[in-house]
Amino acid sequence: MRVLMNAGPWLPVPPRGYGGIENVIATLVPELRRLGAEVVLATVGDSDLAVEERVAVFPSGRFDELQRPYNQVCGVVPAHQHAVVRRLDRGDIDLVHDHVEAAGLTMLAGLGPDAPPGLHTLHWDLRKHPELYGTFDGGSRVRVNGVSADQLTHAPEALRAHAVGHVHLATPLADGADRRARTEKSPYAVVLGRITPGKGQDLAARLAHSAGFDLVLAGPIGPYRQPADLLAADQRNPDVRFWHEEVAPHVDGDRVRWVGTVAGAARDSLVASAEVALFPLRWNEPGGTAVVESLALGTPVVGIARGCLPELVEHGRTGLITTDEEELGELVHAARRLEEAECRAEAARRFTPATMAAAYLGLYERISAPVPAG
Ligand code: UDP
Repeated sequence: MRVLMNAGPWLPVPPRGYGGIENVIATLVPELRRLGAEVVLATVGDSDLAVEERVAVFPSGRFDELQRPYNQVCGVVPAHQHAVVRRLDRGDIDLVHDHVEAAGLTMLAGLGPDAPPGLHTLHWDLRKHPELYGTFDGGSRVRVNGVSADQLTHAPEALRAHAVGHVHLATPLADGADRRARTEKSPYAVVLGRITPGKGQDLAARLAHSAGFDLVLAGPIGPYRQPADLLAADQRNPDVRFWHEEVAPHVDGDRVRWVGTVAGAARDSLVASAEVALFPLRWNEPGGTAVVESLALGTPVVGIARGCLPELVEHGRTGLITTDEEELGELVHAARRLEEAECRAEAARRFTPATMAAAYLGLYERISAPVPAG
């Protein structure tokens, strides 16, 4: 089977540091190829994931351009999608697996009847784009999947009619996680993720002071990856405003620190050494790559019981979850009694790349099967 995997024009695959969707694709593709699939990756020029073929219009990721006015960036996705459609014209692709928000879904629906079947993975909060999701009609050739069961329950009926279920996210860190040696823990909690209101870094920072625990915040603020980048930041960016108004007042460089974007071994060691990975969610986190990464690194998860968290975390065994924001601070202390080996074993059982790839291959086969006559 030859799959066109559409990663979009925003970041390279694998990403250097932050990159939720690109990380998922970098985890999925090697396993699909190991299972015999050929992969044509639609991406940007500086992606270095091994694939059979690459389609790229842009030499590098356009992520930073998302800050520019709409009329200056509205050509980015169409230029990328145009190249994808031209590649499909060659007629040798068996299936398109698309990850481009909104535009990927409509591209698949707009392809003619001779196009291959398409699967669009919904990585987002499905209450977005109500006009699109509420009226979507991809016929029988376009299917969608969620990244958690909870996420699909928030989808409008028109979109849900195209759903073939959900596939939980995975991480290469889960491979052999149950056999890895214990990590020496240090007394701090970590919040790993984009600094944005939905991820609740303001709540984490406030609780660190009131409940008395050290906190490290890691992740970008909009396109700004490091504290020094913030000096020249566009103050109109909503995440920059959130940082200055809601989070920074609690960041004293001692009890609460922001270390910017962390990548590779530094990210893994920051998470593995933490006593707790904190997810003070204010939105329904759809898939939570950082959640499964934390478990694979032997760090129990403490967070608000919404979105994918109750599906990924077993309360009392691999983490502690609550619907009460004020209780979170106490749970950070209580989670110290959880076993890191339980977290790693759960990740090795449920969140390996092989598990995710097998699930996607199952979906590919299901949506490629000819529709029975009558
Ligand atoms: N990430 C990272 N460095 C950072 C912050 C995040 O490598 O400083 C990675 C994190 O490990 C995860 C991804 O970015 O793999 C974020 O994905 P997730 O699904 O958790 O959140 P999203 O941003 O997609 O909502």
